[in-house]
Amino acid sequence: MTPVRPGEPGRTRVCPHCKSTILESADVCPGCHHHLRFGAAPRQGESSSSTVFRLEGQFANDQDIAIWEYNLIVALFDERGAEIARKVVHVGALAPREARRCLVSLEAQVATPAPSPRAPLPRPRPPAAAPRAATPPARPPRPG
Ligand SMILES: [Zn+2]
Repeated sequence: MTPVRPGEPGRTRVCPHCKSTILESADVCPGCHHHLRFGAAPRQGESSSSTVFRLEGQFANDQDIAIWEYNLIVALFDERGAEIARKVVHVGALAPREARRCLVSLEAQVATPAPSPRAPLPRPRPPAAAPRAATPPARPPRPG
C-alpha cells in the first residue's frame, strides 16, 4: 500500500454521519449520501464521479430445510494482482426460500492535485498598526 501524504489525492477522513472511511475530497459521502460541505450540492444530472463498473447479483436459499450462512467479501487488487484491501462487508444467514441482492460499484473521479510544496508561500503582511491606546487626560500638577 502506498502511503498518502496530507493534501494528496487518496487522503481519507471519517464521515461524521456513518463513520465510513471516505476520500477527503468527497463532497457527498458515497456510503450514506450525506452532504459534507456547504455549497457542494451537485446540480441535477451532474456528478463529479463516474461509475467505472457496477456488479449486481442475487442469491437465494432454494432449499426447504437447510439454513445457509454467507459472507459478503470485497477485495481490491493492483495491476500486478497484489491484494490492496479485503473487507468482509457483511455476514448473515438465509432461511429456506429467503434471498438477498448484492450490489458492488466502483466510482472514480479526477483527483484535484494538492498544492506543490515548492509553491511560494504567500508573503506575510506587515502587522496592521495597532490602535493607539487612548491617552489618559493629563492630570493637573499636584500642589506642593
Ligand atoms: Zn457517510
